[in-house]
Amino acid sequence: MRIAGQVSIDDIPRICPLLSRTANPQYGEHGTRVVNVAGVRFGGERPVVIGGPCAVESHAQTVGLAHAVKRAGADMLRGGAYKPRTSPHDFQGSGLEGLCILSVARQETGLPIVTEVMDPRMVAEVAEVADMLQVGSRNMHNYTLLAEVGRTRKPILLKRGMSASLCEWLGAAEYIAKQGNMDIVLCERGIRGFPSGEYSRYVLDLNVIPAAKMLAFLPVVVDPSHATGVSAMVEPASRAALEMGSHGLLIEVADLTVGEPKCDGLQAIDAATLARIVRFAQEKKSVRSPELAAESGKERRPSSALKATAAFPS
Ligand code: PEP
Ligand code: MN
Repeated sequence: MRIAGQVSIDDIPRICPLLSRTANPQYGEHGTRVVNVAGVRFGGERPVVIGGPCAVESHAQTVGLAHAVKRAGADMLRGGAYKPRTSPHDFQGSGLEGLCILSVARQETGLPIVTEVMDPRMVAEVAEVADMLQVGSRNMHNYTLLAEVGRTRKPILLKRGMSASLCEWLGAAEYIAKQGNMDIVLCERGIRGFPSGEYSRYVLDLNVIPAAKMLAFLPVVVDPSHATGVSAMVEPASRAALEMGSHGLLIEVADLTVGEPKCDGLQAIDAATLARIVRFAQEKKSVRSPELAAESGKERRPSSALKATAAFPS
């Protein structure tokens, strides 16, 4: 039976002519497009670690955490000035003031900033401060927003929709690429599965890392914080993600000694734990360098079906 609208990974070269390996043989089987965010290289020689609060709440909280994240050895600072919350009555972020705080945090620490933009009308304003724009899980299907961030020249962190298939996720990335912005980093952040909410927030889909890398040449990172929702799970989930070939991690950090964060406190780790994760990531040499891949130079076409794990790019 043939069903309207049904796609499989065999359709990826047609859905994603700009981003699929098959349609872009210059990347070979293993080459990754290096996405450079103010000197931080996603898909480069080693994994990238991004740490910071869920939400920008105050100057003291964010700037204090930025210094802690820097001391822990992380590469970038995260923090939402605009927050997509389940209830419209909950804290929605600190908005423009939050953006100003982020820019102070960058000035003081030198850490590049990634922050979420939720509204196509706000893209220019957020892009003025952000070194990298985050499109959140809930907005992965917002094609107007995807096109708008695609018209900027800022690198984009594209989270996977919590119920999105790999085809839908790569299709969303293609919307950004179609506007001329190829600097896209994919971020797996957990998907809804039958046990979601029973012992963890979502199901961390580690298997999608090699699959996404096999089909497209973009860097892939993992957010173990939203994927698990449990701070004790964040460190082992980070290690597991790196073992599965993740090019980096996006992690929520809090200083619980100064009080409970306004959102997602239960999944936040402290700076000492972040420092351990950074050390693990820095020792990891399994993210194949793009230069090596380019040197191998041969034009090989990846199989259109995910048959053997041996075929997955490292
Ligand atoms: C976030 O990273 O701040 C966030 C809201 O994550 P997600 O979009 O994955 O839920
Ligand atoms: Mn959060």
